[in-house]
Amino acid sequence: MTDDKTLAAQVSELRDKLRAWKQIKLEKEKRKMSDDKDTKDKKFSVWSEYTDDDKAAMEQLAAGYIDFISRCKTERESVVEAVKRAEAVGYKNLDDVIKSGGKLAAGDKVYSVCMKKTVALFQIGTEPLENGLKILGAHIDTCRLDLKQNPLYEDSGLAYLDTHYYGGIKKYQWVTLPLAMHGVVVKKDGRVIEIVIGEDAGDPVFCVTDLLIHLSQEQLKKTADKVIEGEKLDILVGNYPLKENDKESVKRGVLKLLKDKYDIDEEDFISAELALVPAGKARELGFDRSMVLGYGQDDRVCSYTSLVAMLEAANQTFGKTACCLLVDKEEIGSYGATGMKSRFFANTLAELLNACGQYSELALRRALRNSFMLSSDVSSAFDALYASAFEKRNVAYLGKGMVFNKFTGSRGKSGSSDANAEYVGKLRGILDKHNVKYQFSELGKVDLGGGGTIAYMMAEYGMEVIDSGVAVLSMHAPWEATSKIDIYETKKGYAAFLAEI
Ligand code: MN
Ligand code: MN
Repeated sequence: MTDDKTLAAQVSELRDKLRAWKQIKLEKEKRKMSDDKDTKDKKFSVWSEYTDDDKAAMEQLAAGYIDFISRCKTERESVVEAVKRAEAVGYKNLDDVIKSGGKLAAGDKVYSVCMKKTVALFQIGTEPLENGLKILGAHIDTCRLDLKQNPLYEDSGLAYLDTHYYGGIKKYQWVTLPLAMHGVVVKKDGRVIEIVIGEDAGDPVFCVTDLLIHLSQEQLKKTADKVIEGEKLDILVGNYPLKENDKESVKRGVLKLLKDKYDIDEEDFISAELALVPAGKARELGFDRSMVLGYGQDDRVCSYTSLVAMLEAANQTFGKTACCLLVDKEEIGSYGATGMKSRFFANTLAELLNACGQYSELALRRALRNSFMLSSDVSSAFDALYASAFEKRNVAYLGKGMVFNKFTGSRGKSGSSDANAEYVGKLRGILDKHNVKYQFSELGKVDLGGGGTIAYMMAEYGMEVIDSGVAVLSMHAPWEATSKIDIYETKKGYAAFLAEI
């Protein structure tokens, strides 16, 4: 009896516990649902607040952006376009100012180009340069397939160009797409032949082939990182033999065409920089045309919006000198003379100080240390199809405004420059004052991976710097997606930064 009673008591106790536990679980779920709703409500309010003027301005910016990324697919092309636009609003080449012994003063606007691949624009402010600059920085290099230096070969009656991919790509995404060739071939005498093939409607295009599904049993057992190997990313470029049954006749046919049309010899590939990029224009995406599908939006979406914000301010008077810095080589670690790790920026700033009659080593160091920067790069947008890669409360959403990453890096914030809370607070004040819609996010879930930007290199000078930019879907894929709203809000954010900091 006693035993039974104890057993009954135990069962009832367990039942109570279970009930309480269920209750807690239920409440937790309810709370989570309402939290989710709260976050959603907050984040979904951007578009509904737009006036007709906002919408018109947004569409105008998006159209300009679509045109820009459709035409400028390499860093060289982007630099040419940036310089053209800068000169149109009164910018002068800093090298010309230096050569002519000219002096710069408040209100003057100059640009400096590094090896045709990186460009810095400056609008001199009324304060001494040693008070620091306000810098908008982004990168203009993008993932692609670069030709090797001995690229051309023939196999089984087909001519190919061998490539080495540039940047972090999922190789399987780059097969069977129409590809265009952009770049330069430099002759021994220094002549530079510019190449763009595959963008005009009448142009031929190129492609990497893939194995037909019918014979892919073995291939499809491979993991996705191996299913297309780097050495298999060779470009199909010809099939007509110059003379039937001759050895390497197709290859010779291609070479004859290159010679006749472009005056390029086979050895000239040695001194060439030729890239294969997805062919064709960027497009509006979706029934509602709310988004943009285009190549190389990482990071030309931040480059374009930074440039536009900078040039739109051409007639404003600034206290601190403003700078827009568009750099090369970010996708491969920012190395090289044209990457952010080079001395280009500091050296150019020294020249600027000198041209303003303010140069000293100390003034240069102070100018760098006292600067503020928005280091802009794309951020990963939440993708509902791959929800498990993201942490819903700390991820950017498409169409929810400009994105800030307090830190990037991976696995324990490793490699991150981690912006100071004081700087973040200051920026929040500026953004709110100018009614800029923004969101703070991380790249993905903790310990899942990560990425870096140019922020930490500028932070080494002791300046305040934070990662900001536009959210993108399918980052590093041949065609990436962004939202027009985010592009517009980000440009507004840059303008607010230039006006206030
Ligand atoms: Mn990037
Ligand atoms: Mn990237």
